[in-house]
Amino acid sequence: MGKERIIIVGAGMAGAAAAYFLARRGVKDILILEKELIAGIHSSGLNAAILRTMIAEPELNRLARESAAFYLAPPEGFSTEPLVDKTGIYLTASVGNEPTLQGWCADNPETGMEPIDVAAVYARIPALARGIGMATWKGDDGVMDVHAILQGFLGGARRAGAELRTGVEFLGLRTDGGRVTGVETSAGFMDASKVLVANGAWASCAEVFGAYALSFTPHRRHLLVTEVLPQVDARWPVMWIAGEEFYFRPESGGLLMCGCDAVAVAPDQGEVTDTAQIEGIASKAARWLPSLENVRVAKAWAGMRTFVPDDLFVIGADPRLEGLYWNAGLGGHGVTCAPAHGRLAADWIADGGSPHPAATSLAPARLIR
Ligand SMILES: Cc1cc2nc3c(=O)[nH]c(=O)nc-3n(C[C@H](O)[C@H](O)[C@H](O)COP(=O)(O)OP(=O)(O)OC[C@H]3O[C@@H](n4cnc5c(N)ncnc54)[C@H](O)[C@@H]3O)c2cc1C
Repeated sequence: MGKERIIIVGAGMAGAAAAYFLARRGVKDILILEKELIAGIHSSGLNAAILRTMIAEPELNRLARESAAFYLAPPEGFSTEPLVDKTGIYLTASVGNEPTLQGWCADNPETGMEPIDVAAVYARIPALARGIGMATWKGDDGVMDVHAILQGFLGGARRAGAELRTGVEFLGLRTDGGRVTGVETSAGFMDASKVLVANGAWASCAEVFGAYALSFTPHRRHLLVTEVLPQVDARWPVMWIAGEEFYFRPESGGLLMCGCDAVAVAPDQGEVTDTAQIEGIASKAARWLPSLENVRVAKAWAGMRTFVPDDLFVIGADPRLEGLYWNAGLGGHGVTCAPAHGRLAADWIADGGSPHPAATSLAPARLIR
């Protein structure tokens, strides 16, 4: 270990996937630093676990489709569990919002949403209230086993030689002559020639990055899971009602629900729950699933989706400082797209760039004047 070391800050999906693909390329001397005592307890452990390839942005859509292919046929030894349950997704619009969904499907053919009869949705989800005006379907999408995916990346990286140190906080970069020479951490200074910032919402901490800060903003979003409900069929697809900003899917015998809130926050506030937002989910549920009224909430929580202003991921070399790389700003798609963003980040670190068609659009250079 020493001066040629690659340090990856953060052991969520961004850091774990990048470490996996770097290590699998034979890159040695990779050290992942994670401030928590275990990996994956922030956004990567607080999400809705929906594999959603129906993303409008073409660059992210491409990454999502590449990643879905990885999840459906992962490399030998990646996981003993299936990584995706292909339950399918209904993307629907409430009455009055049909033109918006029609326009969205027409503008984004690569999302592959197939129009279907609204009656089919009611036949599948009898508890759904009337008021859906249009429905589309994607059978390939579904629900991911996020734990198996994260452990697959971390386990694979470690087996290929990468080291994970938990309980160590990155405090800042040390530089010399326009290049990275190491990192300051809660466990002291560590040499490194390359540093990958993969620390999720904390990429927004301008004071940590100083002159190299980028314009990340974490947005808080709440989820809840109901108690076990006999009327829920575990094979229901994910149900998304556009225009109402409401989605739900089966989870642990009940339903996981989201009201699609998005409030800009500082990272230390991003997992603090706001009762009003949880009540907001409950009132959407009362509208769309009236037979579930008075159902108890088993669990509710909040997590962060972190964006830059153009909502695209930030992956690649920082042109201001040799040896500084980013895999951050993964918004609401960081689990779906983990194989593709991890591979892209690894390309940048190992090769100095990537032939991937989305590489330039996602590179940090676009954010730096
Ligand atoms: C409510 C909600 C629903 C979502 N639903 C979906 C979904 O259905 N499908 C999907 O694909 N995506 C979804 N997402 C998005 C997805 O969860 C994120 O894009 C993804 O988890 C981001 O991964 P990350 O590694 O960048 O961040 P994180 O998982 O937060 O990992 C960052 C890690 O860096 C560590 N860290 C931070 N600062 C430091 C430091 N200074 N030193 C050392 N370590 C540090 C943190 O402790 C953390 O472990 C959802 C997100 C939320 C909040």
